[in-house]
Amino acid sequence: KALPLSVPITLPNGIIYEQPTGLFINNEFVYPKQHKTFAVLSPSTEEEITQVYEAFKEDVDTAVDAANAAFHSKWSTSDPSTRTRVLYKLADLVEENAETLAYIEALDNGKSLQCSRGDVALTAAYFRSCAGWADKIKGSVIETGDTHFNYTRREPIGVCGQIIPWNFPLLMASWKLGPVLATGCTTVLKTAESTPLSALFLATLIKKAGVPAGVVNVISGFGPTAGAAVASHPKIKKVAFTGSTNIGRVIMKAAADSNLKKVTLELGGKSPNIVFNDADVKSTIQHLVTGIFYNTGEVCCAGSRIYVQSGIYNDIVAEFKRAAETLKIGNPFDEETFMGAQASQQQLDKILRYIDLGKKEGATVITGGERLGSKGYFVKPTIFGDVREDHQIVRDEIFGPVVTITKFETIEEVIALANNSDYGLAAGVHTDDLNKAITVANKINSGTIWVNTYNDFHPMVPFGGYSQSGIGREMGEEALDNYTQVKAVRIGLKQ
Ligand code: NAD
Repeated sequence: KALPLSVPITLPNGIIYEQPTGLFINNEFVYPKQHKTFAVLSPSTEEEITQVYEAFKEDVDTAVDAANAAFHSKWSTSDPSTRTRVLYKLADLVEENAETLAYIEALDNGKSLQCSRGDVALTAAYFRSCAGWADKIKGSVIETGDTHFNYTRREPIGVCGQIIPWNFPLLMASWKLGPVLATGCTTVLKTAESTPLSALFLATLIKKAGVPAGVVNVISGFGPTAGAAVASHPKIKKVAFTGSTNIGRVIMKAAADSNLKKVTLELGGKSPNIVFNDADVKSTIQHLVTGIFYNTGEVCCAGSRIYVQSGIYNDIVAEFKRAAETLKIGNPFDEETFMGAQASQQQLDKILRYIDLGKKEGATVITGGERLGSKGYFVKPTIFGDVREDHQIVRDEIFGPVVTITKFETIEEVIALANNSDYGLAAGVHTDDLNKAITVANKINSGTIWVNTYNDFHPMVPFGGYSQSGIGREMGEEALDNYTQVKAVRIGLKQ
């Protein structure tokens, strides 16, 4: 029996909602050409939530055609206040449906409600911020003397392809769709195969908000098929990708080999979180916990390498261990739960492999170091001490609740340690000395430095990577640069 294009799902709070299962193309949920479906699992129970329809290359072609037609409609050329209104409405609709979205996300990704509610709030805030940008995209007039008149325009780049990961399915959709809607672009967004549900639900809100047909198309599917078709599509002018550094390389090659589409990448990290002797212990512990255990450590900018100055090292280790051991892990829908389940069996296996490797490399398990229970993909918060810089657990992105902690003596030493990585996404600095904070912030190679805070986002503050952590910025005014291109017009004046 064919899967309907929407199925009723009962959420753990008793609310029944309609979950779309089809591909969202031209503001309608439709069947893919091959009518194939795949299962979506709940990571906290390992049970199937539903099936959804799977897109292949031919469906990507259909979605791109819809996006292309929409781009050549009034959408991209009419008064930008139209787009402002749509984005404000979308933000309101996200808030009106906040609990449903938070429950879908916790069900599909395994994260705790505490986390998913935060994601929903940031999603609404980001759409609202983009609403404010839509009518503030400006060119300039350039003086070159009386013989010419020169001006620039910032034009929308066209049809975009956007490929997102499973760690923040809804929030990453908003970081991608916000600037598309603000600038007058159109898009085909491919969700991650393990977490397609929240973006499909968001699509219903996108239609309700008044986004014209074809502007936003959302497809579920796998990387090597649907994802690859997006990255190499000749009519897509720009591809935005968030995910692993390895696939980032694949995307960049596909973009180069097809039509040299513009590329932005938001990739992995191994971010240092640095604690100086003069840091406030209580608040610092909070930021170390948020840094690595928030969202079960499945955060690209997780503070996964902690460096602590010798004078405060013993206190921090003791307090951090205590804090990790008191975190509530388990059922994502329990209001008290801080850490839910890892997103997939594959992710659980990867994390446990790294924990074993850390033990074999000779590091000491300060706390954790094992799976929690046998049903659901739960891992205990894990802190490794006695690590060396060449240990793989210090070098590789683990993408789970696993952190290393190392003692240092001087500022120069810790700057060198912090920068000893192929990545450069984020860093944390904890100190009461503003001079020290700024000196260290200036010298660290990364796109974001958090001082006396961590994993602390704001829609107006740009985010993105140095080195192999990525290309381009999301959020803030900078995000708009990726979705517009500058046209310079130089007019010769009659003399
Ligand atoms: P991934 O990079 O394979 O997946 C991310 C997205 O890319 C998904 O939508 C996937 O379908 C798509 N994709 C995969 N192969 C593709 C291809 N050939 N062409 C086009 N699209 C493709 O990530 P993963 O395998 O799910 O996770 C592996 C590791 O990546 C994680 O353990 C973690 O270290 C890292 N990761 C980082 C982030 C981040 O936010 N930086 C997010 C997710 C995963």
